[in-house]
Amino acid sequence: MTMFDGDFTRRRMIAVGGGVAAAGLLVQGAAALGQSTGPAATGKPMPDGVDLPANPPATVQPGSVGFAIIGLGDYALKQIMPRFAQSGRAHIAAIVSGNPAKLKQVGDAYGVPESARYSYDSFAQIATNPAVEAVYIILPTGLHAEWAERAFAAGKHVLCEKPMALSGAECERMIAASQRANRKLMIAYRCHFEPYNMAAMALMEDDAVGALRLIRTEHSYRMGPTTPSENWRVSRALAGGGPLEDYGIYGLQAALYLSGEMPESISAATYRPANDPRFAEIFAHVSAQLRFPSGATAHVVTSYDSAGLNMVEARGTEGVLKMQPATNYGGNTLTLEAGRNRQELTPGDSEVQFARQLDHLASAIRDNTPIITPGEMGLRDLRLIEAIYASAASGQTVRLNPDATMRR
Ligand code: NDP
Repeated sequence: MTMFDGDFTRRRMIAVGGGVAAAGLLVQGAAALGQSTGPAATGKPMPDGVDLPANPPATVQPGSVGFAIIGLGDYALKQIMPRFAQSGRAHIAAIVSGNPAKLKQVGDAYGVPESARYSYDSFAQIATNPAVEAVYIILPTGLHAEWAERAFAAGKHVLCEKPMALSGAECERMIAASQRANRKLMIAYRCHFEPYNMAAMALMEDDAVGALRLIRTEHSYRMGPTTPSENWRVSRALAGGGPLEDYGIYGLQAALYLSGEMPESISAATYRPANDPRFAEIFAHVSAQLRFPSGATAHVVTSYDSAGLNMVEARGTEGVLKMQPATNYGGNTLTLEAGRNRQELTPGDSEVQFARQLDHLASAIRDNTPIITPGEMGLRDLRLIEAIYASAASGQTVRLNPDATMRR
């Protein structure tokens, strides 16, 4: 069974950016649509609304880890690159892009030497640049596995954006490549470094809502008109099934880190409207019910076609913990209600999550400290996503082993 059985009929193995999509994951080929997916073919324009620094950073702290940023898109330019200024242990040492004009503009603004500005074709030369110790992959998801393998082959550590890849098999390849290279692999699950989510985890560990009964999460927004050739987020080859991998994964993650359990079974449903170019290749909605060994359940909902909502709620025998928004870059809220008591918590500035995440990998590299969001966590989540799609395709409840593989 594949992730998408039952919903799509035209499927085949494809090569994405020169790499072969993972065994076991059959995806509708971009090649079949006449699209190019590989980075070498891109040269995406500068996104709107990017604020480049007026002056490059003056100094690099002693012992700081040099990162190469690969993929100068929206998230890299607006969220990640500006946050290096708040990191004590990480700095930008190189950039990689398919757009030469952007390489120059961004490289000049961040003080990246010309010799450390790479195209996708010249990326392999990064192996001989000792200033780069880690590569931060901020490419479309379908390219994560291939570029992680290339970074490991160049002898670099890897920080990889979420979702880790498009299938469990791709994640296993990435973990194997990290082990072969003896280099670290971390998944950029920023909520593990975000004060509101960290406080929620601590409250749940302290049984602040009593015995957990129900978790509800929703991550939804309404996507504007688009097509797979215009937008990688609606392309199966680059985004998998769509909203669950991209946005719903925050709710799936929250269900696990708030319950502290792994589901023993999953039942799920997907929906894909006919004749909507946005959903020619991906799902519009995914809804999954996770059942935990304690008897608690989690309802994880995500949509690219409904009014915006970002919320997480954990309800127990004594109270309820509510977060809305729950997993944003900033502005998150956290409320604990127990009986007549209602407490609004303000555990800190959400913005620190970005720099903390960078510092976490830098510390793991410098001090050999454990990574709290390792490749194995990304693999676990892709296995759960595969189980969700398998349940939706079959209409059956899927039973899981403790490592999230499906019980046959
Ligand atoms: P964008 O489309 O804005 O940027 C992606 C960049 O990847 C492009 O600008 C381009 O950079 C490069 N690229 C290389 N090959 C391709 C291709 N075939 N099609 C499109 N782009 C290509 O995406 P985002 O920045 O929003 O997302 C990138 C990654 O970051 C994804 O994995 C996403 O899930 C993750 N993300 C994480 C968030 C979080 O909160 N943790 C939030 C948003 C995104 P260039 O022109 O320089 O070559």
